[in-house]
Amino acid sequence: MSDAPAGTAATLASLGIELLQRGWLSSNCILFTDRSGREPAAVVDSGYALHAAQTVAWLERHLAGQPLGRVVNTHLHSDHCGGNAEIQRRFGSQAWVPDVSVEIVRQWDEERLTYRATDQTCERFTVTGGVRAGGEIWLGDRPWQAWSTPGHDPDALVFFEPRSRVLIAGDALWRDRLAIVFPELAGADGFGSVRETLAAIESLAPNLVIPGHGAPFSDVAGALQASRQRLASFERAPEKHFGYALRALVMFHMLEHRRRPRVDLTEWMAQAPVLLRGRDSLALDRKRVDRMIDASLERLLAEGQLALDGADLVVASK
Ligand SMILES: [Zn+2]
Repeated sequence: MSDAPAGTAATLASLGIELLQRGWLSSNCILFTDRSGREPAAVVDSGYALHAAQTVAWLERHLAGQPLGRVVNTHLHSDHCGGNAEIQRRFGSQAWVPDVSVEIVRQWDEERLTYRATDQTCERFTVTGGVRAGGEIWLGDRPWQAWSTPGHDPDALVFFEPRSRVLIAGDALWRDRLAIVFPELAGADGFGSVRETLAAIESLAPNLVIPGHGAPFSDVAGALQASRQRLASFERAPEKHFGYALRALVMFHMLEHRRRPRVDLTEWMAQAPVLLRGRDSLALDRKRVDRMIDASLERLLAEGQLALDGADLVVASK
């Protein structure tokens, strides 16, 4: 939390929050405890499956023997609910998800849950209940409002606490980037939803945002402006959004696998269902996409995110 604004630690402490801040493969985890003991502890989001043991170890340390009543998910991308199953095994916790997603989780429909399309893994967990947009959920010692924030994910929620004006934003608002707008890759409208979601967040006037990835931030106007600029550039040129999605999905894949022969990675990108659908919805021909794949890898190499080791691409250690 070193780059979080001054006063953040005190604000989080007053809400009973411990924050496990992470990078990009796993989402942040936000642990709530109620020192009065009236409400059981709860954690919002649980990271990616690969980090599940790390997540549970962190929870054990901070819970210090208290039970963990429930895990609550902002949305069901694999990097936000990949620790749910391990948490349920270790703590016997309930799992609460956006209510529109309850049935999909119950059936474990990996197609609708996007894990098949993105070739990401998420261990099946048992859903207990749904959080309704427009409703409230108790976290720590107070109720948090749940707001619907479609765009990045059509079913995503954010949680807002009106007294402190703290917003748990999931992937609906980051400090200086815009998350992939997945519906657009499937040929559906997503950019319009992002615009509405940004307006809804603006109307809440949060003082502090805890994003799904990276440090908490207070410059909400700056983040909204950056997101809107990015959104406008994607709307003007949707293939830019496709290129961004290529790079983001490749980095996610590489952070999981660490090393892949370049030829295999290129083939994986050309075959990943989420990208095939994006290609079709933009009517891009295969040659153009091949050039974009090459350009994506070159850019990640130039930026120092990936490095070449013989014929292999590896995650650069910065
Ligand atoms: Zn997400």
